[in-house]
Amino acid sequence: MIDTEKQHKIAALIVAAGRGVRAERPGPKQYELLAGKSVLARTVDAFTRHGLIDTVLVVIHRDDEALYRQILEDHEKLLPPVFGGDTRQVSVLAGLERFAQMQQGPDRVLIHDGVRPFVGEDLITAICSAIGPNAGAIPVLAISETVKRTDAARIVETVPRAGLHLAQTPQGFPFAAILEAHRAAADQQDLTDDEAVAARAGLAVRTICGDRNNIKLTSPDDFHHAETIVAQSMETRTGQGFDVHALVPGDHVMLCGVKIPHTRGLKGHSDADAGLHALTDALYGALGDGDIGHHFPPSDPKWRGADSAVFLRSAVARLKARGGRINNLDVTIICEEPKIGPHREAMRQAIAAIADIDPGRVSVKATTSERLGFAGRGEGIAALATATIQVPAPGPPL
Ligand code: MG
Repeated sequence: MIDTEKQHKIAALIVAAGRGVRAERPGPKQYELLAGKSVLARTVDAFTRHGLIDTVLVVIHRDDEALYRQILEDHEKLLPPVFGGDTRQVSVLAGLERFAQMQQGPDRVLIHDGVRPFVGEDLITAICSAIGPNAGAIPVLAISETVKRTDAARIVETVPRAGLHLAQTPQGFPFAAILEAHRAAADQQDLTDDEAVAARAGLAVRTICGDRNNIKLTSPDDFHHAETIVAQSMETRTGQGFDVHALVPGDHVMLCGVKIPHTRGLKGHSDADAGLHALTDALYGALGDGDIGHHFPPSDPKWRGADSAVFLRSAVARLKARGGRINNLDVTIICEEPKIGPHREAMRQAIAAIADIDPGRVSVKATTSERLGFAGRGEGIAALATATIQVPAPGPPL
């Protein structure tokens, strides 16, 4: 459907004003990290990157503004957050009122829990399509377990499960109708989802098939499950790097972040640490993200004499920004002199500290080239590196 004048604008309202704290962890659950990326940022990304969604708004708690700014970057679809209230209904209404103030507000809205980060592209599409001019749509899951009503530890009854479903979000509605329904329900603050608000106003709501991965993260168990989902959606990648620097008159060399006294020095624009340069390129290689010369042009005087830790740290930051992590780093130094063995452990520790990983994930090896070639003649030092990483695989659910 061609939507030239945005007459069918669809907004997403993400409710994240809750105070729920995960056991033994500081801060509200929606700001907790899953594989380096917060729950809420994952949720928001699912909507900002969706082709049918025009505008995204997050309702946050007044105390969380700084946290929100830390985890969410500006995006053309993302409005500044609004503050919610004590109940979910108050928070949703605050978000809907914000849309109502827009010059060209939405005509459909999807309302979603901030702690459901695995909402898939297909589910968002299905809800958008199922909203009618006078009807909402929600995803539901049939219950396969037998349902018991209990009173403390005592079972009171077995509830017939025929027709019973679990309601998920996003729940989608014609905007004007759900705004009206929420305004009308302001005097009854015990409605736990927007379908209940819609039903109270007599608005018809269709059901579509939900997604079992679209879990709501509430208990510690949910977080364990979420970590498994994230781990399953990671792919392993490998990159290689190679670097050479010439030996010139001097009194020390920098190799793998360690200063080694020597009768000569390494020539280069930065500190000429061939080991860290090879490792940096190996990480860029694994990420498919250019090379060290692209990110730190030798033509830029800013990098003259630079500590090469800056380069490796930057590559690691780019990896983390993509929700990735390092499996291991392996570097081989090729030279006749200086002897690497006595410095190997210090190099492992230095690389591990720069890359923010356990030294057990770092290997430093050395070899000569049997006095053959430039390294054998002592004209320069070469380094060869491999990086193995985990990054989120493209596509849903991340
Ligand atoms: Mg270099």
